[in-house]
Amino acid sequence: MKSLSIKNLHKKYDQTEVLRGIDISLESGEFLVLVGPSGCGKSTLLSCIAGLEEITSGSIKLGEKDITHASPKDRELAMVFQSYALYPNMTVRQNIEFGLKISKYSKEEIENRIQSAASMLQIKELLNRKPAQLSGGQRQRIAIARSISREPSIYLFDEPLSNLDAELRVRMRAEIKKLHKKVKKTIVYVTHDQIEAMTLADKIAIMHNGTIQQFDTPINVYNNPCNLFTAGFIGSPSMNFIDVKIQKNGNKYFINLKNEIQEDNFLYLDASYEYLEKYLNKEVIAGIRPEHMQNGFRSLEISHELQDLKANISFSEYTGADAFLFLKLNDTDVIARVSSDDLKADGENIALKVWTKKILFFDKKTENRIR
Ligand code: ADP
Repeated sequence: MKSLSIKNLHKKYDQTEVLRGIDISLESGEFLVLVGPSGCGKSTLLSCIAGLEEITSGSIKLGEKDITHASPKDRELAMVFQSYALYPNMTVRQNIEFGLKISKYSKEEIENRIQSAASMLQIKELLNRKPAQLSGGQRQRIAIARSISREPSIYLFDEPLSNLDAELRVRMRAEIKKLHKKVKKTIVYVTHDQIEAMTLADKIAIMHNGTIQQFDTPINVYNNPCNLFTAGFIGSPSMNFIDVKIQKNGNKYFINLKNEIQEDNFLYLDASYEYLEKYLNKEVIAGIRPEHMQNGFRSLEISHELQDLKANISFSEYTGADAFLFLKLNDTDVIARVSSDDLKADGENIALKVWTKKILFFDKKTENRIR
């Protein structure tokens, strides 16, 4: 069953169009993360779904119900804000109770819901405190408990973890994921943090300039980005983009990744790259993820897909488990992500393996993936 479907949604503020034809279709119980750089329209889209902003054109349906012009309180959804939005002069219990009283539930029903939300979020011992007596993480937990107690058909989360410190954010992220497994409700979650997006989502919508660039599962977004923007946005360090010319020797395409210690370093591409024919002798952008240039590949099965690349290390960064090696290929700075056992001193040479089968190509003009 579809739980949320948005068709061709546009939103203008005066003459500025901030959402430009958004389409989303979610199955019941799916966890959607809207992710993208600041200003791309994520919060505006969430506010449009919540009914806090009137849309300019298009439609929004929750289940079978058209809610395009419904008031927020008739939308059967609950929103959790970055700022928690708790009433400071009410206790935790009163904060949760407030919305339930307005909805005119019986006393018994209200108590049941408070207890059930409090035990799910492990906040029973906090019910009589006021927000000022709570830590940031506890406040966010209360805000989530409050939304759960209303038992909506869909939850909207607007950057709920961005006010928390890094460690707490990781813990709360896991809690939200567990909670979703338990309540099995549809969630639309806004974040600018790609790790949060990748770890939480069933589906990710990558937004840019008021449009959805790609709507897909985390695995597909990572392995099969549809254009240069999504390829560069997901992944840390980012995918390397290198200008290359598509050349052919016999029936094999190849590219050249030169650097200061190797004037020619040809990488041959297998038969699956046939689609490059129309780009023969033309410049395209090659996309190579840092982890696809290393020498610690463990799987023997891919050994025939690896090709050599010798390079000089401009400098390196040690991060603990990994080391990032900075090198220059075709006059572009790129990063290789190697095991920290392979850490090199600045200026040293290294023999890397490139997993050629993983190289993606992008059209220079349209920036779309070539495939
Ligand atoms: P994000 O959540 O992705 O950071 P927003 O949805 O907050 O982005 O904003 C998208 C764009 O809409 C931004 O350029 C922002 O300046 C603009 N915007 C947001 N709210 C308003 C408003 N009330 N009036 C005019 N422009 C707005």
